[in-house]
Amino acid sequence: MKIDSWIFEAHDDMKHGYKVKDILYHQQSKYQEVVVLETEGYGKALYLDGLLMLTEKHEFFYHDVIVHPAMFVHKNPEYVLIIGGGDGGSLREVLKHKEVKKVDMVEIDEKVVEASKKFFPTLSVEFDNPKANIMFDDGIKFVKETNNKYDIIIVDSSDPIGPAEGLFNEDFYRNAYKSLKEDGIIVSQVESPLFYEKFFKAHFEMNRKIFPIAMPMIGFEPDYPYGMWGYSFLSRKYHPLNDFNEDKVINSDIKTRYYNIEVHKALFAYPNFVRDLIGE
Ligand code: SAM
Repeated sequence: MKIDSWIFEAHDDMKHGYKVKDILYHQQSKYQEVVVLETEGYGKALYLDGLLMLTEKHEFFYHDVIVHPAMFVHKNPEYVLIIGGGDGGSLREVLKHKEVKKVDMVEIDEKVVEASKKFFPTLSVEFDNPKANIMFDDGIKFVKETNNKYDIIIVDSSDPIGPAEGLFNEDFYRNAYKSLKEDGIIVSQVESPLFYEKFFKAHFEMNRKIFPIAMPMIGFEPDYPYGMWGYSFLSRKYHPLNDFNEDKVINSDIKTRYYNIEVHKALFAYPNFVRDLIGE
């Protein structure tokens, strides 16, 4: 990817960029190009195959949403699987929940974890937690070989290109479904309803055939194109609003910078164009 005094995530008809102070890491792994930069105003940034994964300044918008709604709705989230998540942000947020007994993290690319440990100390903070089990493997294969094991699965993947492409199809979600316990919940990052309309629409059409509850969450994420980001809340039993016990949040000592009770509800309040997309 081209890096000079600016770095741009480039798409067909738009670019999203940051001013660069320094290039800290630039390696081609077995799976993707891994770049870490120091930006002028957003802290360090992680890019994979030219796509922005996170900046230190804004990463909490994403990690709060991909983790806390499911962890607070589930009655007793003890066993968690994170697929991807190589920067460690989701692992950090999951381990804030004291009920958690074990987190398996299946990340395909060791170079991402290596870069995060070196350059993102506020994200990689829990890699050595005794409850964390970091495995370098393909999440697609892992769920194929897993049954009835997890309360929560978080699919914290890169975009549907390269090694992550197979994390967005029906085969993967049917295997992820059977990797859950009977009351389990999956949350995935599913791109943007503004930016990938067809993909977003197809994702919920597909998962409504697999899960009794398949609902988008729409949150702000300033680092991603247009700043409106989509996640999917896929649940075998619990409804994200009807089964949301606000006291769990009120009584928890978990500190978050984006998520709270009102934000939880707002994640499921859809603009009309999103309702049309998901056929609501
Ligand atoms: N968008 C996220 C964020 O804002 O933090 C990025 C999370 S993380 C960097 C995405 C991870 O998914 C990458 O580390 C990538 O190596 C990993 N990944 C991609 N395909 C995978 C697969 N098939 N199995 C496991 N991990 C995968």
